[in-house]
Amino acid sequence: MRTFTVVFLLCFSVAFSQDYRWQQRADYFMDVRLDVKTHKVSGTQKLTYTNNSPDTLRKVYYHLYYNAFQPGSMMDVRSRNIADPDGRVTDRISKLKDDEIGYQHIENLKQDGKDISYKVIGTILEVDLAKPLLPKTKTTFDMKFTSQVPVQIRRSGRNNREGIAYSMTQWYPKLAEYDYQGWHAYQYVAREFHGVWGDFDVKITIDPAFVIGGTGKLQNPDKVGHGYEKPGTKVTRPAGELTWHFVAKNVIDFAWAADPDYTHSIVQVPEGPEVHFFFQKNEKTADNWKKLEDYVVKHFQFMNRTFGKYPYEVYSVIQGGDGGMEYPMCTLVLGEGNFNGLAGTTVHEICHSWYQAVLASNESLYPWMDEGFTTFATDESLAMITNTGAENPHSSTYAGYFSLVRSGLQEPISQHSDHYTTNRAYGTAAYNMGSMLLNHVKYIVGSENFYKGMRNYYNAWKFRHPEPNDFIRVMEKTSGMQLRWFMSYWVNTTKRIDYGVKSIFEREKNTFITLERIAELPMPVELLVTYRDGSKELHYIPLNETIGSKPIDDKSVKRVDLEAWPWVNPTYTLAIGKPSAEIASIELDPSMRMADIDRKNNKVDFTKDLKAYTNPTR
Ligand SMILES: [Zn+2]
Repeated sequence: MRTFTVVFLLCFSVAFSQDYRWQQRADYFMDVRLDVKTHKVSGTQKLTYTNNSPDTLRKVYYHLYYNAFQPGSMMDVRSRNIADPDGRVTDRISKLKDDEIGYQHIENLKQDGKDISYKVIGTILEVDLAKPLLPKTKTTFDMKFTSQVPVQIRRSGRNNREGIAYSMTQWYPKLAEYDYQGWHAYQYVAREFHGVWGDFDVKITIDPAFVIGGTGKLQNPDKVGHGYEKPGTKVTRPAGELTWHFVAKNVIDFAWAADPDYTHSIVQVPEGPEVHFFFQKNEKTADNWKKLEDYVVKHFQFMNRTFGKYPYEVYSVIQGGDGGMEYPMCTLVLGEGNFNGLAGTTVHEICHSWYQAVLASNESLYPWMDEGFTTFATDESLAMITNTGAENPHSSTYAGYFSLVRSGLQEPISQHSDHYTTNRAYGTAAYNMGSMLLNHVKYIVGSENFYKGMRNYYNAWKFRHPEPNDFIRVMEKTSGMQLRWFMSYWVNTTKRIDYGVKSIFEREKNTFITLERIAELPMPVELLVTYRDGSKELHYIPLNETIGSKPIDDKSVKRVDLEAWPWVNPTYTLAIGKPSAEIASIELDPSMRMADIDRKNNKVDFTKDLKAYTNPTR
């Protein structure tokens, strides 16, 4: 028995460990000062860069995101030319005055103590290395930089409409990621970020009236106080400015926010993490933020048990600039407005701790892997927390997709997130279609395999940069089914699903039903037969391309397993085994998990509509 166990464990670990794929590492030490009178940040950055690639690097690239907030920047031009601009941006960048724009000026840059040359191209800093960086070696960059925090336009910036002084996101020169696909040094025009795994040690010096929340764990709570002090202890703050010291291990970014009016509270999720809340307490926020605490605790518990355990000790929910945006170990969300908006946004951003902060897929290339998976988990968690809509928590996601299909604006979701023709096509592709991809996989492999697969995916790929293939392989290994066909259709094309009942006839007291695949995307099919005596049967037709069938999802309904449908066949005829007089109705896809673009042909009421289907010319 012992031998058997060992062999089994060995197979298991081989099955779910990802093939080795190298990834770079960037460890930051930053010591910065924010001048709250001039809105300028000045400081130093020591970056140790480890080249784990097989390539010799002669250049490196940094992102200088603040440079996007200048009239005439690519972000400004893009926003003024796209058909459906983000209402928060529109032409606002073009109107920024000199003391309102954002910029990042590099004062000095050295590689291992030697000056190196660089040039700024929009939001990208291109650096020529003094000494080529050989495979499997490290180098250290020492930088002095000065930034001006822009008036808040999008995500980052100062003095937003809710009165938060500083949303410090995309705020420091950040090294671009390099992997087997090359450099990911994209100009910042709208959205989505990617980063290099590493440790951050950040010291922030600021006016002592300000409270800071951000990525990582505060190292000197007893020096800064502001709600960080242990109950009963008194903090004596030094005169003059205060230095806040944060450390975050194994993250891809570091964000923070500062405001003199933050209320800071802490709530412990029983199995972790410790959650910090930062918000301006007033009549618009007080009740909602109090109520939010319970949601956040339940949400972390749901995520931990359903999708894998949150790996860090702390998390912070911070009232920030606009909308909601995810960062490692924290989020910045708008704080006012109604409770459902606040709770929905916070739950969504926390889900990004799984799908972006820990499974750090390249958001620019595969935005559906973070926004879509996040949307899926958000809807399932909210249905659990509020105990409503558990039947189909994803129905509004489907409705958004159907609406995009009707609009004619749909584009394949394999595109780079910045390059969609419209913001609408991007939004529906990333959020809705990414979430629907999961719900289709769940439909194809069955619930039990699906959730097991999601946890296997998380555990196999955490602290790495998973790609579409990595995800689908884990799902294939977990379910024993072949799934690539579905991902290829759903991600690379705009082909759709449409199944219908084509015809019905009776022979020798047996009812034969012919189903047809009308659109191009093939799927396994479920047909629910309801008899006149009230009993039901689910007729399950696997798709032959999956080479397998799913376990029974709903044990309350009898399932009849049929022969697989070869994907090339336009029709499929099944025999019910009973005369039509005993049948009340049939319905294709009763769980409504297939994105069937025309459901009018899915259902037949035998008491009324049978004649229309018995005409052999149909
Ligand atoms: Zn999101």
